[in-house]
Amino acid sequence: EDIIVCRDVHKWYGNFHALRGVTTTVRKGEVVVIIGPSGSGKSTFIRTINRLEQHQRGDIVVDGIELTNDTRNIDAIRRDVGMVFQSFNLFPHLTVLSNITLAPTKVRKLPSHEADDIAMELLERVGIPEQADKYPAQLSGGQQQRVAIARALAMQPNIMLFDEPTSALDPEMIKEVLEVMRELAESQMTILAVSHELGFAREVADRIVMFDEGLIVEDQPPDEFFNNP
Ligand code: ADP
Ligand code: ADP
Repeated sequence: EDIIVCRDVHKWYGNFHALRGVTTTVRKGEVVVIIGPSGSGKSTFIRTINRLEQHQRGDIVVDGIELTNDTRNIDAIRRDVGMVFQSFNLFPHLTVLSNITLAPTKVRKLPSHEADDIAMELLERVGIPEQADKYPAQLSGGQQQRVAIARALAMQPNIMLFDEPTSALDPEMIKEVLEVMRELAESQMTILAVSHELGFAREVADRIVMFDEGLIVEDQPPDEFFNNP
């Protein structure tokens, strides 16, 4: 089952042609790792999937929802597509638990006790239930990124996007975040991740997609990708 379909997607920033005809399909449960040089359009591409950026030409259909240039479907898309950024983007004045329960209570209108239960389950899943009452600044970078993942999962998305989720982390914290992503991949989540972690790509990805100058120039399973010259 195709969950993301992109046909000839173009994106300009002013005169700059950032996506120059991207065509690709992602199946439900697939893990796609996106690589490529800086400025090649990786981030722009995944941001078009949840409408943080709007494409100007071509078609994108996400989980059956056509992404058009009006605002009609934005809420549905944001609910369906979770995103984790390089910088953790947690709310500094909210506790870890409240960071996670905010969207479920405000957007999904869950009663707060239910949202708290879900948040605690997610904190256990990412391995830091004991940090629930702390504030983001009291956590390590790796812990903050795990909270960011839990926060995205709290909306029960069908697709998760990661934009260089470990690039801002010290080496010893990269592993713990990749481990959470690996478990997410094993749970059949559909994942698109921009990442330089080739070990992770090799072990976890179903496909490695390489961008160059706004186009997909390679799209292969890791075995082929790493064995071809
Ligand atoms: P990557 O993620 O591969 O590093 P990006 O998608 O972030 O690439 O950026 C692709 C190109 O588009 C870069 O040259 C970048 O400077 C440019 N770009 C990205 N965002 C904007 C923006 N908001 N306005 C203008 N140019 C942008
Ligand atoms: P990344 O490659 O991780 O996307 P960047 O440093 O390229 O990081 O971009 C950081 C932010 O700045 C993004 O929101 C991007 O859209 C914006 N940006 C990038 N390049 C430009 C640009 N040339 N003009 C305006 N905004 C830009």
